[in-house]
Amino acid sequence: MGQATRTTKLFLDLGRRDQGGANTDKRAALDATALVLNQARTFYIDFFLAHTDKLAERVPYYSEQHLEMRERAISANELLTWAEACTVETAAHPHPWEGWDFSARFPEMPCIYRRSVIKDAIGKVRSYLSNLANWQKTKKKKGRPGLPGATDHPTLYQGTCELSLEEARGGDRFVRLKVYDGHAWQWVNYPVVCSRYFQQRQREPAWEQQSPTLVLSKQTAALHFPQTKTIAARKVKESKLDPDLVTVAVDLNVKHLAVITVRRHEQIIETVFVSDHGLDQQRYRHLKRIARKQWLSGKPVKGEHSNQQLWRHVRRMNEDAARKVACSLARVCAQYPGCVLLFERLRKIKAKAGSKSRRMNRRQANQLRGKINQYAREKAFLAGTVTVEVNPHGTSQYCSRCGQGGERFSFHHGQRVSVRWGKLFWCPHCHYEANADWNASVNGHHSFFHEFHWKPRPKRSG
Ligand SMILES: [Zn+2]
Repeated sequence: MGQATRTTKLFLDLGRRDQGGANTDKRAALDATALVLNQARTFYIDFFLAHTDKLAERVPYYSEQHLEMRERAISANELLTWAEACTVETAAHPHPWEGWDFSARFPEMPCIYRRSVIKDAIGKVRSYLSNLANWQKTKKKKGRPGLPGATDHPTLYQGTCELSLEEARGGDRFVRLKVYDGHAWQWVNYPVVCSRYFQQRQREPAWEQQSPTLVLSKQTAALHFPQTKTIAARKVKESKLDPDLVTVAVDLNVKHLAVITVRRHEQIIETVFVSDHGLDQQRYRHLKRIARKQWLSGKPVKGEHSNQQLWRHVRRMNEDAARKVACSLARVCAQYPGCVLLFERLRKIKAKAGSKSRRMNRRQANQLRGKINQYAREKAFLAGTVTVEVNPHGTSQYCSRCGQGGERFSFHHGQRVSVRWGKLFWCPHCHYEANADWNASVNGHHSFFHEFHWKPRPKRSG
């Protein structure tokens, strides 16, 4: 059993006014809301940082399991109640603490927003304190964790956000938000760009929906709905006992982005090569241009980014390739229900030698492999396929047929040249020749089943 998460976005219509977009006051209110919530978050982060001893408090409780009184750390809800009692003016607590009067500084803020920022602040301060404690243990001078920042996307819990997509009049769809317009808190209707795609994703019964966050950027405003789904998947230990188990191994490379092999009953039953369609070359050319421009313009200006458009393009190319490879991987896995997906634990391809653009290109290729791994893992898990990381030691050096060490070679002017990065693999023991990436991919299965070179070593005695 596990949980998968995804985000479904609903964009607010900030298009042209005469085409139904929100007016300027409404847009300004969104920014004002985010700003005032950030200020409130700052208030509570400062408050908790000033009272760190309360965060570390232990409370006694009666344990049903052990039938005795025990101690545990104070919970977030108890902290929230305590913080409200100290800072908010109510009938029960008419006098908030000196200097910490929240009601005076943020009059009439809805209590749901207040509680959400207190929860945010508790999370941020707690993680800061634990990071700080870890850092102090290491006794290093560098790397002191910075104080927690207050900016965050506001979360719209129930009571601050109402979605009315059903009772749509004449195709107009609105979302009602409680926003701050600079003077008071009020409900405002925002037109949304609602697509069939969004409604379909929202209605899917298996996905449980949680409170959305309001994400504002320069050009757009959107509600991000996190969704979770419970997924039933076999444990790998159980799968391993299954004699009909299908394993799908993947070898990630630069030119062949992925080599996928499927094995059942110790036989390879399917192979898929996913080519990069010249991505590596194209990216190299872009990076060469960036490197040249950087060289021509000399020292970079601090705090400014150069070649933004080119970098954006490179990032988009990488992102696109990663999604496509993950898709083709998921497609293969979907054909074999109950299979196990095998990835090699990622190694970095070190980029020491070569020009600057070449090194940058290697770094991008490493990032791409990481992305493919991540996306494929998420996508496959949605279909109930579990991913295992296998030991990558020597997968490209050993023969996948007999398990002896072999060598890689290439053809250069019709001559066999043995080079480390050769395209082909040759085994001197059983005279087996194969594509080097394919050989590595097949070795992924051997590594998973602990065969050949990947046999568990007997423990040394004494
Ligand atoms: Zn061999």
